[in-house]
Amino acid sequence: MKVHIIGGGYVGLVSAACFSELGHEVHLIEIDRAKVDTINRGIPPIYEPGLEELLKKHIGRNLSASSDYQNIGHSECTFICVGTPPALDGSADLNYIRNAAQSIGSALKDGRTSHTVVVKSTVPPGTTGTIVAPSVLEASERRDGSITFAMNPEFLREGWAVEDFFHPDRIVIGCSDGIACKRVRALYDRIDAPVIATGLHAAEMIKYVSNAFLATKISFSNEIGNICKRLGIDVYEVMKGVGLDTRISPHFLNAGAGFGGSCFPKDVSALISLAESIGEDPRILKSVMEVNESQALRMITVLESRIGNLCGKQVAVLGLAFKDNTDDVRDSRAIPVIEALVGRGAVVRAFDPLARHAMAKIFPDISYYNSAEGALTGADACLVMTEWPEFSQLDHEFDRMASRVIIEGRRILTCDGKEGICW
Ligand code: NAD
Repeated sequence: MKVHIIGGGYVGLVSAACFSELGHEVHLIEIDRAKVDTINRGIPPIYEPGLEELLKKHIGRNLSASSDYQNIGHSECTFICVGTPPALDGSADLNYIRNAAQSIGSALKDGRTSHTVVVKSTVPPGTTGTIVAPSVLEASERRDGSITFAMNPEFLREGWAVEDFFHPDRIVIGCSDGIACKRVRALYDRIDAPVIATGLHAAEMIKYVSNAFLATKISFSNEIGNICKRLGIDVYEVMKGVGLDTRISPHFLNAGAGFGGSCFPKDVSALISLAESIGEDPRILKSVMEVNESQALRMITVLESRIGNLCGKQVAVLGLAFKDNTDDVRDSRAIPVIEALVGRGAVVRAFDPLARHAMAKIFPDISYYNSAEGALTGADACLVMTEWPEFSQLDHEFDRMASRVIIEGRRILTCDGKEGICW
């Protein structure tokens, strides 16, 4: 099938490369020309395991990229994969979605062939039907039913995005008519996963509810961790016993410094904002966010309880990405921690295997090191903020610290003498 994909970020680029691998002819449209250039050279502008190999295999063959919407009418399907960042009030900012929809509509003007516009971005219920469809139809001036709409939310995990594309737990397809549903289903023909065919609103809501539930599991585990630490009980032992209950599952029960990334914080906030706009008071969701906000700062509370006033202290921060296996620092829990350290006059010595450059855009004035050992040498304390597997190998590197105060926000270290944020 011929497919256009709008937005060459984590979701759009991974989808483009993976749909090419499935044998489709894919054209990616990205407004950032620098990204288009690197993609066309076979270099992904983001780090994602397996992505570069796929890009190199398909670019110039059945995958291409440009900033030009002109040929959209030659495809059967266009996926919208642009960002839906939080607005100041926490609701989803849909401006990128609106602009993409208008550009698609203009490009489809004068065309006659049947076309399906699929929203893959995470959007509040109602967006595909009341914003995307009218914008496309108005700009295209086509009201003959030849343009159809679908919503196909994305569930990939950064760091596992390619793997997740080919082995999803489920594929959700929301449609208002049979043609669109059949077409989107056909694109995933070679993927072995349950397909949930539903309405547009339900598909949009499934994505928000999935993320909100996972975020709830994390905040719940963190609250239990805080209680367990005071009682001298290991929360990881507790959650091991809890998670083996098949009604609960062991996933997302890892207590720590809280959740970050481009999805959980913004999607829970958007769901809160949506609920409030219709007169509901989403108390659980608000608590999930409150627990998350205060959890990262517990790293500072534990640190101060160990070394007192932080002014002038050298503090190594190991891990800047919001999770391991990615260079993405959006809403990383390292951000409020570094902010608090800098605010208290501490000298921050940061290390991350991949995310240094992304974090340097947010904190240009802290020191970045090329190795954990470099960051640790001479430090008065160390905070571990990301569960990079390589941190589990660190041992003698901690001997190079001025004093061996090691506080983990993620349970990853194997060395002696460490203290956990909530264990
Ligand atoms: P991103 O910011 O990495 O990428 C979006 C890209 O779209 C950018 O490169 C931007 O330049 C481009 N763009 C914006 N407007 C455009 C336009 N009009 N035409 C062409 N290109 C345009 O975002 P992302 O992380 O890929 O997320 C995209 C959507 O998918 C969001 O709604 C997000 O919530 C959702 N999502 C993300 C993930 C994830 O792990 N990142 C997972 C599931 C769902």
